[in-house]
Amino acid sequence: MSLINVKNLYVEYLADKGILGKKTSVHAVNGVTLEIKQGEIIAVAGESGCGKSTLAKAIMKLEKIKHGEISFDGKNIHSMNKKELKEFRKKVQMIFQNPYSSLDPKMKIIDTLKEPLVINTKLSNQEITQIIQEKLEMVGLDKSCLELYPHEFSGGQRQRIAIARALVLNPDFIIADEPVSALDVSIQAQIINLIKELKEKCNITFLLITHDMSVIKYLADRVAVMYLGEIVELGNTLSIFNNPKHPYTKALLNAVPNFNKKLQANMLKGELPSPENLPSGCKFHTRCPNFMPICECNIPPVTALTERHNVKCFLYSNKE
Ligand code: SF4
Repeated sequence: MSLINVKNLYVEYLADKGILGKKTSVHAVNGVTLEIKQGEIIAVAGESGCGKSTLAKAIMKLEKIKHGEISFDGKNIHSMNKKELKEFRKKVQMIFQNPYSSLDPKMKIIDTLKEPLVINTKLSNQEITQIIQEKLEMVGLDKSCLELYPHEFSGGQRQRIAIARALVLNPDFIIADEPVSALDVSIQAQIINLIKELKEKCNITFLLITHDMSVIKYLADRVAVMYLGEIVELGNTLSIFNNPKHPYTKALLNAVPNFNKKLQANMLKGELPSPENLPSGCKFHTRCPNFMPICECNIPPVTALTERHNVKCFLYSNKE
């Protein structure tokens, strides 16, 4: 059953350009269609600037959309009434990259964890305390931390507190935006395992935003590879890692040290073009090692390789 349905989504925003105060359009998300199933971890992979964080914000209704539709549990998030929107805000939570800035340094942990419950529910103090203790236990902490401030914890402990805060309202869906990239390598594995455990024990659906392919390989059920605001390949994690098709996916995997020696010759060249000035045809054509004349002016169709693996590239389509 699908929990989130994104259909033909476009997000565009204006950015300052130069000292004359001129504005320019940034084409951040360009025609994304994505179904996220209940209880899965789907990862969105790609370089910085590929549109993955904008896509996540659009799903959270934090970004104005230009075109398309996003539904949560069958309901279009842009036509929800006040009550439905309040419920949606409870059911969809986010874990941020940096646990040093995502927790208010002036608030004790108990107040940080209480805040969403006080704002969104009519629960008694006793019920709130019970929920907080339950969630702390789920993330491997105990009530001894409640009277302390964020600076009294390590990075890993702060990320656990941020996860507990995301859990207090019993969300169905969590967006984890680079959840371990600000942490020491030694504690990354603990947080990755915690996310896996939450998915398995609580059936929470996760959208994992990361550029780290090794985190994706360990955590995700499916992977969507994004390039300049488009999904260029989508499939089960195993088939994406064992049998990548799109030249960009191959290049991303190539960037993982010693990951797959067969792919070492296929390196990504050049810089990511600016989303203010998108290339014509296939957006990857300026960097593609498999470039063909057809790619410059024509948009490749999405080809289904199997029921659960598709790719947007002329190498796999009928070119006639
Ligand atoms: Fe490369 Fe052409 Fe495929 Fe684009 S459509 S990825 S340019 S081969």
